[in-house]
Amino acid sequence: MVDGKIIKGIGGFYYVDTDSEIYECRARGIFRKQKITPLVGDLVSISVVDEENKKGVVEEIHDRKTELIRPPIANVDKVLIVFAIKNPKLHLSLLDRFIVLAEKENLEIVIVLTKADLDDENSLEKIKGIYESSGYKVIPVSNKTKLNIDKIKEELKNNVVVFAGPSGVGKSSLLNEIDENFKLQIGEVSDKIKRGKHTTRHAELLKLECGGVVADTPGFSSLTLDDVEESELKDYFIEFENFDGCRFGSKCVHENEPNCSVKEAVEKGEISKERYESYIQLLNEVRQNNRRY
Ligand code: GDP
Ligand code: ZN
Repeated sequence: MVDGKIIKGIGGFYYVDTDSEIYECRARGIFRKQKITPLVGDLVSISVVDEENKKGVVEEIHDRKTELIRPPIANVDKVLIVFAIKNPKLHLSLLDRFIVLAEKENLEIVIVLTKADLDDENSLEKIKGIYESSGYKVIPVSNKTKLNIDKIKEELKNNVVVFAGPSGVGKSSLLNEIDENFKLQIGEVSDKIKRGKHTTRHAELLKLECGGVVADTPGFSSLTLDDVEESELKDYFIEFENFDGCRFGSKCVHENEPNCSVKEAVEKGEISKERYESYIQLLNEVRQNNRRY
């Protein structure tokens, strides 16, 4: 048996990259009986049935570290949440929504602020400050001046990465900068990124020159918080964890409760007001969702 990674799945065939070759594989029937569907990103063991024509059978699916649903990809290590500093206008609550969705999936998060060359009001430093004090890595980039493209390559190296973020922020331009030999594929990527949620069925992993692997479809094509419980939302605002002295302990949702450490921290400026406001906004949304069902 040979180990590899599923990089593409089409019509019941799985394309397994063993690092030296790509095998076209069927999955064993047993998976269907067990109601397990192989996913792009799955680490698998295959048996080769036809070496000459590179055909095999997926025999085993190894345990998944993470599992994204939209797009369906297993074992994503990291998400690069990409927002432009302007054009389109940066809405912090939308950025926080992406962060919540990524935290829920247990992904490592890097925030990428593109179009740094357009930063004429010093908003970049302010936003970078907010998210760094929350505990996130923030990388300003410019696809125009090539600022920090090398840092992004460093983040991709040896990782399976998904880009996420609204359209028009420069995701495809950034992929283009990262990998010059990639232009042909990027054309497709760019189209797919623009078509957004209509393409999530056939996510595909693409190998980068710098040693990383990237999904050709942006992460979180659905931005609803339908699967988030009112009581769990606070766990996805990671800086709140540093303030755990609320009178109601872990039952406190940091809203109207007395003696709330998180609210006190917001008052003292130890938690950013913007982040807290996003939290309250998303909390109300989650509550309405929960009521509907
Ligand atoms: P996507 O929808 O996120 O893939 O965004 P695109 O890569 O298609 O870029 C959207 C627009 O922003 C294009 O017109 C790009 O030329 C422009 N753009 C992308 N990155 C930058 C940047 O770093 N600086 C500036 N000034 N414009 C950029
Ligand atoms: Zn509290």
